[in-house]
This record gives sequence, C-alpha cells and structure tokens, in this order.
Amino acid sequence: MSKILMVNLPYAGHTNPTLPLTKCLVERGHEVGYIHAPEWRDKIEKTGANFIPYPDYPVGLSEQQKKRRCFLAAFQTVMAVGKNYDLLIYEMLFFPAKRLADRLGIPSIRQFSQPAWNHEAFQSLSGSSKMFLLSSRLIGKQLMNSSAARAMKMEELKMVDSVINDVPELNIVYLPDFFQPMRSTFDQRFIFVSPAVVSHQPSDVSIPFDQMTGPIIYISLGTIISSKRFYRKCIAAFKNKAVSVILSTGKVDPQTLGKLPANIYAYPFVPQLEVLKKSALFITHGGMNSVCEAMTYGVPMLVLPVLNDQPINAAQVTALKIGKRLNFLRVSAKELSAEAFGILSDDEIQKQCLVIQKKLQLSMKSSDAAAAVEKYLSKKPPIN
Ligand code: UDP
Repeated sequence: MSKILMVNLPYAGHTNPTLPLTKCLVERGHEVGYIHAPEWRDKIEKTGANFIPYPDYPVGLSEQQKKRRCFLAAFQTVMAVGKNYDLLIYEMLFFPAKRLADRLGIPSIRQFSQPAWNHEAFQSLSGSSKMFLLSSRLIGKQLMNSSAARAMKMEELKMVDSVINDVPELNIVYLPDFFQPMRSTFDQRFIFVSPAVVSHQPSDVSIPFDQMTGPIIYISLGTIISSKRFYRKCIAAFKNKAVSVILSTGKVDPQTLGKLPANIYAYPFVPQLEVLKKSALFITHGGMNSVCEAMTYGVPMLVLPVLNDQPINAAQVTALKIGKRLNFLRVSAKELSAEAFGILSDDEIQKQCLVIQKKLQLSMKSSDAAAAVEKYLSKKPPIN
C-alpha cells in the first residue's frame, strides 16, 4: 500500500476525468489524499479519497477570484503536506507540479484531461489552430500570475514550455490513443486511457421518447457555451422535418426561443448519456467529453467547434470518418439540415462509428491506469 497525493485546480473538465483513477487506487488499498477547492469535497469523498482543501480559500469565490487564487493555494497545500506521501499525481493544468515534487523529493505522475502535448504535437496543433495557440498561452499566464510565480519561486516558468519539457516518467492521457493527434510521436512514458463515460451532473428532465417519431437528432454546445442565434438556426433547419430534435440550451431559457415546432424538444440540461443511446446524430461543439460519449454509443457527429481543444477534436472526428465539421459562426440553417440528412443516410459513416465504438471498448481503462501507477511505484524511480 502506498500513500498517494493528488492535486488539481477547480475546473470540472480537468477534474472529472481523474476521479475514476482516484477511486480505483483507493479500491486497490492505497491511501489517497486529494487536494482541491472546497466545492469539490463531496465528489472527491465519493471516490473514497481523503479530501484536503486548499487553505484560506472560501467557498463561493467568483470565477475570476478562483482563477487568481487557485494556483498558489494548490502549491501551498502540496508544500505543506507533500512530504508525507510516496507520490504526487497532478493534472497538466497545474504544470509546476513536477518541479514541486522534485523539490519535495517525491516522484510524480501527470494526467492529461485533453489531448497531450509534446513538442511535435504542440507545433502541429498550434499550426492548425491559432485559437489553440492563443488560449494555451493565455490560460498559463492567468493561472500562474506574477505574484503566484514569485511566491512559488518559479518566475521563469511558462506553461507551454513546462508542459512540453517537464515530463514525468508516467503520463496518463484520458482519451483513446487513436484519438491523440500525432500519436506516433509520444513515447512509452505516455499511456492512453479511455475516459469513463459516467454522468457527472444528474438531470431531472424526463424526455418523452415515446412521443418522438423518426430518427432523433441531439444538439448540445456543452456546459460552457450557449447561443440563442445557433439554437434558432437549428429550429429553422429541422422545423417539421421527419426527425425529432432534442435541444440542450444551456444558459438560454427555452421559453425565449418562441413557440417550438412539435418535433423539437428543448431543455436547459438533459441526461446526455440517456439521450445519446437513442440518437442517430449528435450536433455538438466538440467538447472532449461529448465526443467520447458519442463514440461510446456509436453516434455520428456534426461538430461545430468554438474554442479550446474543440477544433482539434473536430479534426480528429473528421479524420476518423465518424462525422463532419461545420463552421459555428457561418453555418446556415439550410447547410445544417443538408449536412445532417447527409450523415443520416451515409452508411459508411454509420459503419465507421461501429468500428470506432469497438476500438474504444478495447482501449485501456482506469484499472489499467491504476496498475501502471503501481508498476511505476514498484520501480521507485530516482528523482532528477
Ligand atoms: N452534459 C449533459 N447534459 C447536457 C449538456 C451537457 O449531461 O444537457 C454533459 C455531457 O454529457 C458532458 C459534459 O456535460 O459530459 C460536457 O462536457 P464537454 O467536454 O463535452 O463540454 P464542455 O461543457 O466542457 O464545453
């Protein structure tokens, strides 16, 4: 049994994928402490790990306050308790963690909740998406602001350089390896684990599937992006057509979309996994979770990426031939409808979705990642 310390920043997309491994490590008899913001106590305690809150970090901070304070808070907590552990496991967004573990004299393992970066992958990704390049530079500066960097004595450290160059001996990437851009450039220090498809946020909406006729088209822009303009285009595209449409509207109140045609059902938040199981097509912004969930259920996609890793995911969906990409801002209702019906009648895409679904079932799981952590620990690597 080992004493394992995990640390993360208060972002759902970077935390949820790490929870199944946490649970697996606890179930395999390890003592796991997980450092996180106070709002995460319940979710982390459910894995069986001991919750270790950031110090001096009240519940209810605004998003801006969180962004300013979380990095230093995570750092201070690791410094305070890290010496008592055999291993530090961190997520790539908290990029100074390897140096921190080296300072403490304990080994470290990194997790990626998005496609992994090395030099070649980063060059390729930023070459194909300016948005990716800008947002990866900006987020690093916002998180490790100058006062945090000074307090941590890491003034010279930049996120992109650190993610590419500070590479621990084991890196767990939460996506199937066939989805990783430039996969062949990653060495054996990187393992690719199929993210667990579980509902992280319950929805109490009951969808009237029995009233629906024709194939079901599910439309969602995830939990961060909402666009009334886009939802209106979707309504115009599928109004009174021989399909049923389930629209997840996020922060847009469905009432503000006007009287809906009888074949369109809109809710602020739906039980996405249940909906995907019954859908023939998913119109999505291309968030990593949504894309993995669609692949799990063999649902073809029309991807309209907006930001972050979404353009990369859209490119992978197209390359794997399990869907197509459209331009979020420029798409018209006519184009949306033509492309959607095109996919619904495309046997090749449907077949390829089943191939990818099978491949996904054969990918590594959280239990394989836990075994890799144990193997790594048993070798007790020297600290650089
Ligand atoms: N989701 C859901 N119901 C909705 C909309 C989204 O359950 O109505 C879930 C979806 O299953 C996925 C997550 O929210 O797990 C969205 O994550 P993703 O990475 O796709 O996008 P993000 O919200 O991070 O942009």
